[in-house]
Amino acid sequence: MPNESIRLIGDMSLEIDDGRDSLELRLRKRSHAHVSLRALVPTYTFLDGAKFQVHLGGKCIYLNLDLIAKDPRQIFALFHEMGHAINVHRRGLLYELAVRIGGGKWGGLYGRKLLLAEERHAWAVGLHIARQLRDKGFDLFPLFQNKDRLSRWLRWNGLRSYEKSFAQFVAEREGSRVFGIQARTPKKSVRKKKYS
Ligand SMILES: [Zn+2]
Repeated sequence: MPNESIRLIGDMSLEIDDGRDSLELRLRKRSHAHVSLRALVPTYTFLDGAKFQVHLGGKCIYLNLDLIAKDPRQIFALFHEMGHAINVHRRGLLYELAVRIGGGKWGGLYGRKLLLAEERHAWAVGLHIARQLRDKGFDLFPLFQNKDRLSRWLRWNGLRSYEKSFAQFVAEREGSRVFGIQARTPKKSVRKKKYS
């Protein structure tokens, strides 16, 4: 028997087995058909946490079970984090690199660009996971009324903060470039050389 079960949609539930140091997650239907989410990211462990987050170095994926219970659409946020984990295998440690240099002065813009690209890509992989599950008979897309609602949800929940921070960063940088240079340049900075 699972430790906990969260109803997602129709007769589909998320079953959680609380192991000693990781969670086993399964989608299950009343027909007893089930699919393991762990099998999609076999080298990672799932842990209950305050938010959805992947820790690539420690190979764990945090998920907030309360949030999923309150709003089953949040299962897509889990798929997104799994997307990061799958990306890493494909693209090396690009993501961690992006995070690391994203905060640095010299790498600010480049890092943020990488990070935004990585976020978009992880959502794409997340949707791919949802399609794979749908093909196995576990369709979670009906959690959203239509494609429009889904993409609006993704934008609002996933990408907006990154896009905003990127746009803000670029705007601030452009601003300081324009105003900074003006402020720093004295009016008579270029003196004509006197030739005698
Ligand atoms: Zn992400």
